[in-house]
Amino acid sequence: MATIGENLQQVKARLAGVRGVILLAVSKGQPVESIRAAAVAGQKAFGENYVQEAIEKMNLLRGNGNELSWHLIGPLQSNKTRVVAERFDWVQTVASEKIARRLSEQRPASLAPLNVLIQVNVSGEPTKSGVAPGGVNSLSKSIKNLKGIRLRGLMAIPEPGADRARYRSVKALYDSLKADYEFDTLSLGMSDDMDVAIAEGSTMVRIGTAIFGARKTHKSAA
Ligand SMILES: *Cc1c(COP(=O)(O)O)cnc(C)c1O
Repeated sequence: MATIGENLQQVKARLAGVRGVILLAVSKGQPVESIRAAAVAGQKAFGENYVQEAIEKMNLLRGNGNELSWHLIGPLQSNKTRVVAERFDWVQTVASEKIARRLSEQRPASLAPLNVLIQVNVSGEPTKSGVAPGGVNSLSKSIKNLKGIRLRGLMAIPEPGADRARYRSVKALYDSLKADYEFDTLSLGMSDDMDVAIAEGSTMVRIGTAIFGARKTHKSAA
């Protein structure tokens, strides 16, 4: 079986030469030993879906000299914003002004602004999280000047098997807002669709299973 370091090299090879696409390693459901192995192999940015699981891992990994950065890529409820504002570096799933305002107010002044992405519901499925494409401009406008957070762009999760038009529409939306809001990040693409996402203009891919293998658990041992 390939090691995490070897998997990382393979994923990076697929990104090589394409306009500096950033690799986020999605470590949800993976033990801290796997995160350590990836960090030793040079990976510093990690994505987690569940706040509690992420905080437990951050605490276990703290103080071993790794300068890791943490992205929340799962839904965020308002009762969890404080700990997220205090512990994460990025939140990719902002979908309301209310959540953005709480993060803004709760981000400690001693820390750099929290980087945020607006999650766009591109599939149009009502059960999916995110803002409808038509609502992204007005949400961007209302949160772009909030202190303590820095709006960096958009995140989307096209449904499995989505055709290229879906990716293109997200990219077109991103491009249409990029100048107004100084966007520099389009988070698009996972293990199964990273190549198409990159081809269509993603600037950050979120890769779990292609690096770590199948997830062990959905939550860390509680
Ligand atoms: C789990 C997850 C990923 C990673 O998915 P893989 O298929 O394991 O690469 C990426 N983005 C989000 C939002 C996720 O929940």
